[in-house]
Amino acid sequence: SRPIRVSIHLHPYGEGRKLLLSRDVTALEQAEAMRRDFVANVSHEIRTPLTVLAGFVETLRTLPLNESERGRYLALMAQQSERMQTLVNDLLTLSRLEGRPPPGAAEWTPVHSLLERCLQEARTLSALVTRGETAGHELRFDPAPSPRSMGEIAGAPNELHSALSNLLNNAVRYTPAGGVIEVQWRVLPDGRAEFSVKDSGPGIAPEHIPRLTERFYRIDRSRSRETGGTGLGLAIVKHVAQRHGAELRIDSTPGLGSTFSIIFPASRIKGPGGEAPAPAP
Ligand code: ADP
Repeated sequence: SRPIRVSIHLHPYGEGRKLLLSRDVTALEQAEAMRRDFVANVSHEIRTPLTVLAGFVETLRTLPLNESERGRYLALMAQQSERMQTLVNDLLTLSRLEGRPPPGAAEWTPVHSLLERCLQEARTLSALVTRGETAGHELRFDPAPSPRSMGEIAGAPNELHSALSNLLNNAVRYTPAGGVIEVQWRVLPDGRAEFSVKDSGPGIAPEHIPRLTERFYRIDRSRSRETGGTGLGLAIVKHVAQRHGAELRIDSTPGLGSTFSIIFPASRIKGPGGEAPAPAP
């Protein structure tokens, strides 16, 4: 039921005759509108920390501050430049993902080492965001796997790392201190494999779920900013999943928590001791 925009063009066609050409330009206009939104969003996201930075520079230049005040301002300035760096890095990651062909299946990575690395980083982030709280997060594998039992996955290791750690880091960032985060890796009976992160955080209302993978879509802007979010994480996850022929699923109950999973196709999974099937995207 969406409106359709049509462009009409009268083309000379033989003596005194005209050919009526019509073209559906809805998709073109939508793409153009999305591009404009994107540029506006990027500009806004960069302008905010820049404005804050410029303000601090001005303060340092004009106010007579003591050593500890100067230190405080410099720390705040470092925070803002870090924020811009993260944003630019995420933008570059996204544009690389969009511009390149999907990764072949030639490179196999042990799942256990991939997950251990993500988990380690999530623990570091957790320690940082729950600093000063009485409890940290309980971060665990469920069930505890043995390295050999997890098999291998085919794809671009850095992309896979970025997708899995984005989901884990989100769980850490949105789950209040004292919450539980469970990571699971399961090879399904049909040979596909599911990576999932379940948290005991605030959960997500159903109306937001379909939009979460849009660039810069956030439910709570200030919460996202506070914890260093760029609003691009889930867009990156979705791209990586698509490029590996995988599916991203989001399941959530407001008040109880969320589960984010990526289901990889059997062609990219090599079970422990199993034969690798012919790699395919
Ligand atoms: P951000 O950098 O803002 O976290 P993302 O693309 O990673 O951007 O996520 C988009 C939005 O989805 C977040 O701003 C947040 O509102 C919501 N979100 C993501 N993960 C979770 C989670 N585990 N629990 C609750 N909300 C989440």
